[in-house]
Amino acid sequence: MKQENNLNQNTSISSYLRETKYSETLLINQMSLLRAENKDEVYKFGFGQSPFPIPESICRSLAENAHRKEYMSVQGHFPLRQAIAGFHKEKENKIWQAENMIVGAGSKILLFCVMAAFQEAEVLLAAPSWVSYEPQAKLAGHKVSWLETNFDDRWRITPEQLETFCQNRDSPDTPLIFVFNYPSNPTGQSYSDNELQALAAVMKKYQVIVIADEIYSLLSYDIDKLFKNTLETYYPEGCIVSSGLSKWCGAGGWRLGFLHIPPQLTGLLAAVIGIASETYSCAPSPIQVAATEAYENIAVANVFLKDQISLLNKISIYCTEKLSEVGVKVHKAEGGFYLFPDFSVFSEKLKGQNISTSEQLMHQLMEQTGVALLPGSAFGLPSSSLTARLAFVDFNDEKFVDTDISSYDFEKIKQGINRLCQWLTEL
Ligand code: PLP
Repeated sequence: MKQENNLNQNTSISSYLRETKYSETLLINQMSLLRAENKDEVYKFGFGQSPFPIPESICRSLAENAHRKEYMSVQGHFPLRQAIAGFHKEKENKIWQAENMIVGAGSKILLFCVMAAFQEAEVLLAAPSWVSYEPQAKLAGHKVSWLETNFDDRWRITPEQLETFCQNRDSPDTPLIFVFNYPSNPTGQSYSDNELQALAAVMKKYQVIVIADEIYSLLSYDIDKLFKNTLETYYPEGCIVSSGLSKWCGAGGWRLGFLHIPPQLTGLLAAVIGIASETYSCAPSPIQVAATEAYENIAVANVFLKDQISLLNKISIYCTEKLSEVGVKVHKAEGGFYLFPDFSVFSEKLKGQNISTSEQLMHQLMEQTGVALLPGSAFGLPSSSLTARLAFVDFNDEKFVDTDISSYDFEKIKQGINRLCQWLTEL
């Protein structure tokens, strides 16, 4: 009898649970697995993680520090914060103090901690944007607003757009948090120095709190840009910067990220540390020590980055050219590992196949060609936009063991792109 009561209690909790979206990434992965089980070829352009092996010296450091079992400070190992500040000073001219930084178990949880630190805020996102910003803002109880971008603006927001939004806010006194990600996931696009300066002027004027998600910045293909200015140069007092080991060091699963929070945002760092202390406590200690080695050894990072950038740029050019040849609208990536093709020129032909949304397009593509993409709707665009994210990192990383990364022949990616182009031309 008692057990029955418990069961009833369990079934009735569903109406109290938070709504979470079933992730398109998981759906596409499931479809890929099904196809792979049938021994059909799958081109995994849906899921983007760094394919490059972590440099050997950094892995060795992790092995040597496996015994580190102590909790570290919630804010993060001080030598690591110092090493990160030194590294980003050298690479991007950042002027950071370790005291204003926090290290956590990936930058994702830290982004959430920033949002959760506000009792009330409005979170502004560009559409398309990385999939987790909106759910995080909603979990923190905030209103989410969008600035929709378009192909002609290379999927980037303009200062005029931001100004119009700021001028017309319903509650201008509520803090506005703008998540600004460049180079972008999902578009691969970035901003010029002048564009950053113009955007920063509007942000400053309206005291926007910016989270500059610069997790892909070290994978900017134009190396000269790395030594130039960032958004923070023009708006240091309002710009929180987030980054970590996941992309440039190929170590997403190590879960190591950080934030730099300007002291002018009084109380915010303390609030974030407070939330971190009540949730994950600290990033894993052995990882923090190995990460210190990664950030201290700039020479190793430089070689590793140069090779990756050279290969990623080559693949981006290949994919962009091939897709453009068959009429797809797409901009070459400026950093990271994503393209954001727009298939709207095929809309009439696709309609003939009962395809009028980006989700339908991805499902048909997967079924008929084995090419997995993520629909533009997963990133905040309307379903009708016929856009997708294409992550061009589907290669077998074991091959890198004996191969120089920069000269790798990305055969699998070429096959997938050709398959996609063939499907489009046969519509
Ligand atoms: N920001 C963007 C744009 C990302 O693509 C990712 C990871 O995919 C993250 C943040 C989170 O990175 P991590 O939590 O691994 O530091």
